[in-house]
Amino acid sequence: MGHERIGVFGGTFDPVHVGHLVTAVNVRHELGLDRVLLVVANVPWQKADRSITSAEDRFAMVEAAVADVDGLEASRIEIDRGGDSYTADTLIALREQHPGAELFLILGSDAAAGLESWERAADLPGLCTIVVVERPGAAGATGLPAGWQGLSVEVPRLEVSSTDLRARFADGRPLDYLVTEPVIDVIRRRGLYR
Ligand code: ATP
Ligand code: MG
Repeated sequence: MGHERIGVFGGTFDPVHVGHLVTAVNVRHELGLDRVLLVVANVPWQKADRSITSAEDRFAMVEAAVADVDGLEASRIEIDRGGDSYTADTLIALREQHPGAELFLILGSDAAAGLESWERAADLPGLCTIVVVERPGAAGATGLPAGWQGLSVEVPRLEVSSTDLRARFADGRPLDYLVTEPVIDVIRRRGLYR
């Protein structure tokens, strides 16, 4: 195996939606990545103010979403590590698992804007190349704080969020085309978001 290029796209994925999938597929294509890992946060410590669907249920949705998609993989590295999920730890672990690989951390512009509040944020640039995709509704262009370097990748902008989807579940509005069929199946089978 040569020099692998791996995208790392972390999230709560509560639930995973077409905005996530379109981003992952298009960043993979634009940057010629071998694969993109959708890394399911175990404890998204920045979202402690609301109740989060269990990590296993969120992982099952991501796994279903990527099952038939070339080059996308669901990663349970943060779930298996347990505790709060810090991206710096995840990147260090991935470097050990994939020696010689080049890591690309994929962020929506809203996430990019908050980078400095992340645990050991200053270590991130030494561990990966930061990649930002613009998210509709988020302020600013790349969203990166002053002084941060990152690649900007254009992907089709889809104004979809998990927060909006959870509100749709709650009041019975349709989810069709916002969430893929395999994910809707997992939601039904596991009785999520009722
Ligand atoms: P929530 O509304 O619960 O915060 P979310 O839709 O923002 O959910 P997250 O799991 O928080 O999804 O996001 C994971 C990553 O995906 C973040 O980097 C976020 O910026 C990015 N992201 C989420 N939705 C989109 C979208 N529609 N387009 C581009 N990037 C997105
Ligand atoms: Mg979010």
